[in-house]
Amino acid sequence: AEAAALVAGDRPAATADGVPVHVFANLGSVTDARNAAAMGAEGCGLLRTEFLFLDRTTPPDHEEQAAEYRDVVAALPGRPVVIRLLDVGGDKPATYLAIPAEENPALGLRGIRVALARPEILDAQLRGILAVPDVDRCRIMVPMVANVDEMIAVRTALDRLRGELGIGPVPLGAMIETPAAAATADLIARHADFLSIGSNDLTQYVLAMDRGNPALAAGIDGLHPAVLRLIRMTCEGAATRDVPVSVCGGLAADPLAAPILIGLGVRTLSVPPARIPATKALVAGLTLAAARDLADRALAARDAARVRDLARRFAEESG
Ligand code: PEP
Ligand code: MG
Repeated sequence: AEAAALVAGDRPAATADGVPVHVFANLGSVTDARNAAAMGAEGCGLLRTEFLFLDRTTPPDHEEQAAEYRDVVAALPGRPVVIRLLDVGGDKPATYLAIPAEENPALGLRGIRVALARPEILDAQLRGILAVPDVDRCRIMVPMVANVDEMIAVRTALDRLRGELGIGPVPLGAMIETPAAAATADLIARHADFLSIGSNDLTQYVLAMDRGNPALAAGIDGLHPAVLRLIRMTCEGAATRDVPVSVCGGLAADPLAAPILIGLGVRTLSVPPARIPATKALVAGLTLAAARDLADRALAARDAARVRDLARRFAEESG
């Protein structure tokens, strides 16, 4: 019976009116991956690869990386795994990167900016991913994109290595976590196979509020209408190229936010493993028409608190 429940748990989620909404897991270790499989994850929507790079004096080589990625992928049999390229720099320092101290680390050399400044780091990571036996289930995601050129540079490196190793296409996606990326999602979508909204960073950059500053914690809310309007722009831009949009930031796991995100056009929610069953249940209780109506009202609201009021009332009415 337990095995049957696990299989049922793997089934794709859908709204009450039959629109598929995939529920994926955010992972930061092999243990997380095993846990996510047990919770019924349809795949991994965000593997934070920083765990391989921090607290050491040299970066992991491609073989060491390949072994870890292989174990994560093996823990989710048959399911897609989105591996995010290294997102260190700024406040997640790796000494061997020798990034000079910065006055504004959140606005500094971080995410894909580091990888493009240190091509050997990007090469080793791409080689590690391409060496996974089930590479056909891997997807690669680029963090902190602000310019289309960054996607083109990663695609060029990926194509070169694939050519060398004789490996077929691997989907490449952009994280949408800078206002620049959200506002140019239509342009980025020409060079991306999928987009994934990092609502934690997107919120911090849209509101100009440090996500780690406890004095601002009460005010930093991804349901601010400004953030929602940029999420709408992202979905509209992606739709011009038929590129799917997911959310892998904390907003995806917020029960008040999920219906709004679906109403805006998001079709994959990537959440911490423990949140998977509740997120699937929430999706199953929605209709797309109702979610769209809620999203329209949220976009017109004055502030995050009013959006939360609308979402709370919506949840009570849908019972
Ligand atoms: C985000 O910014 O929302 C995100 C998913 O990435 P991280 O939290 O790792 O910065
Ligand atoms: Mg981020």
